[in-house]
Amino acid sequence: DNAKTRLSFQAEVAQLLHLVTHSLYSNKEIFLRELISNASDACDKLRFEALDKPALYEDAPNLEVRVAFDKAARTLTITDNGIGMSQQEAIDHLGTIAKSGTKDFMSRLTGDQKANASEQGQLIGQFGVGFYSGFIVADRITVESRRAGLKPEEGVRWASGGAGDFEVEPLTRAQRGTSVILHLREDADEYLNAWKLKQVISKYSDHISLPILMEKEEWKEGENDQGGEMVPTGEWEPVNKASALWTRPKKDISDEQYAEFYKSISHDYEAPLAWSHNRVEGSTEYTQLLYIPAKAPHDLWNREHKAGVKLYVKRVFIMDEAEALLPGYLRFVKGVIDSADLPLNVSRELLQESRDVKAIREGSTKRVLSMLEDLARKSVKAAPESAEGKVDIGSGESTPAPEPTSQDGVTDVVDKKGEPAAEAAAAHAEEAGKYARFYAEFGSVLKEGLGEDFGNRERIAKLLRFASTTSDTVNVSFADYKARMKEGQQAIYYITADTLAAARNSPQLEVFRKKGIEVLLMTDRVDEWALNYLHDFDGTPLQSVAKGAVDLGQLQDEAEKKAAEEAAEGFKPVLDKLKAALKDKAEDVRVTTRLVDSPACLVVQDHGMSMQLARMLKQAGQ
Ligand code: ADP
Ligand code: MG
Repeated sequence: DNAKTRLSFQAEVAQLLHLVTHSLYSNKEIFLRELISNASDACDKLRFEALDKPALYEDAPNLEVRVAFDKAARTLTITDNGIGMSQQEAIDHLGTIAKSGTKDFMSRLTGDQKANASEQGQLIGQFGVGFYSGFIVADRITVESRRAGLKPEEGVRWASGGAGDFEVEPLTRAQRGTSVILHLREDADEYLNAWKLKQVISKYSDHISLPILMEKEEWKEGENDQGGEMVPTGEWEPVNKASALWTRPKKDISDEQYAEFYKSISHDYEAPLAWSHNRVEGSTEYTQLLYIPAKAPHDLWNREHKAGVKLYVKRVFIMDEAEALLPGYLRFVKGVIDSADLPLNVSRELLQESRDVKAIREGSTKRVLSMLEDLARKSVKAAPESAEGKVDIGSGESTPAPEPTSQDGVTDVVDKKGEPAAEAAAAHAEEAGKYARFYAEFGSVLKEGLGEDFGNRERIAKLLRFASTTSDTVNVSFADYKARMKEGQQAIYYITADTLAAARNSPQLEVFRKKGIEVLLMTDRVDEWALNYLHDFDGTPLQSVAKGAVDLGQLQDEAEKKAAEEAAEGFKPVLDKLKAALKDKAEDVRVTTRLVDSPACLVVQDHGMSMQLARMLKQAGQ
């Protein structure tokens, strides 16, 4: 039947569309990036489904995207021959917010801070809101589609003016795939121009691995003001490079292209902090392009937080969020891994068991750790007051060496020649701040690695930073600490607490302060748990100042010790009374040398659960 059905958008979509159409735009052009990326996703999906069902290719095995405009009709059309949509899929995917990320983004736009219209416009511009971005330039969008494998009569036409509702009706469409037809607003004339379209496509979509075609135009003499005009020739030509970015040689890729690619795969609008692009050869062959984001997503701590790495096999997209490719504590890393060895039909379950995947995971983990070591080393270089060279780079690397031309995103600005001094200094300062930025966002996640990745525990430990009794900023590494240890000091001392103030004011620190011994202040919720897995650093034991009797080793004053022993003898009756009075509350009561001003403090047994952990478990209702 030909019935037109009118349906309402999901409430959130209507709200989003209202935002899209009522915000001012500094960069309208991102709509094209979003629609081309959907076209490319649709082709990826077809390629994947066709692995099992080659018939889905019908008579058009070459996947492509076409961008065309019609000046007279004022339309811009983006057509792909990808997977297409059935009527129900068009209703479900275009009428609701399918992607949870978009929902979260929305709540940021409309949430606590209530961005004003121009800020909203900025945000939408940087982030993109997928399909709905089309309404930035169009007052009406028509989508014509037919899903691969369905009959020509089973196509669908979807149309909406971007207000509260949309219409769907059946359509006969010989070609599989989708056309998105934008009926341009009055102020969007610039997109009826081939030059402008090509410029936007190469800016945002150059890395798309499919050809994006536009019709060639040629000059035709005429009677108008300009003496002629450009007319279409019927011949189509690619306007992008059409090779997946990670397959190209590094020397051909600019920093901007790397950053743009990152934005397109991460849905992040900020440039990444660092990246690493390598082809790994050896028994397992793969290409990795891994990025460290500059900002943590708000759901980093959710159980459902998805891994950020996409898996390709020989350039064929296999899956998003391939959690088997990196350990959980590196879940903030985004990027692409393209394997030459895995079968195309690999499933998530198979991935967990594959030996190739194990090799990829180990190699990629080492890659990420070296990227971080690199950032950390640069921040040390730039801060001469802290000891240089404490971070031992590349220790324990056992993966096949990356290409000798390896040129990562963490380029060493210090070595760049011919830069004006002021610029170099600014770049230097920016480079120097990167590790601190990384650590503020992801340090807590990295700590999970102490418990999760035994093989790399030492490398991870070197990357950790803490505040201490001599530093308010979280910038003290275990190595820095060791370099400052007192003559005769035999342990790295630390205290855990809920806040920096609580840690700093703890009576347990009194004797350390008196003797001028630095103590690391740990206030992160995961510290307690993570430190359970780290007993020493580089041969020096870690010792909580809140556990057991503090043994200051050779730093202990003999006279003090003796005095304490005598006092313990003298106070025995008092201690016995206290023990009896507190028998349900305290295991032991003893005289201590750890206090200077305070009369008493609580400590836990040497191997007991620490107080912080006990408190956490209590909070969790255990
Ligand atoms: P996202 O691409 O992040 O999923 P979008 O808002 O861009 O979000 O698109 C929403 C959904 O609409 C897509 O997930 C897809 O299912 C469907 N869709 C959009 N464009 C196309 C297309 N060209 N071909 C097939 N499906 C599409
Ligand atoms: Mg999209």
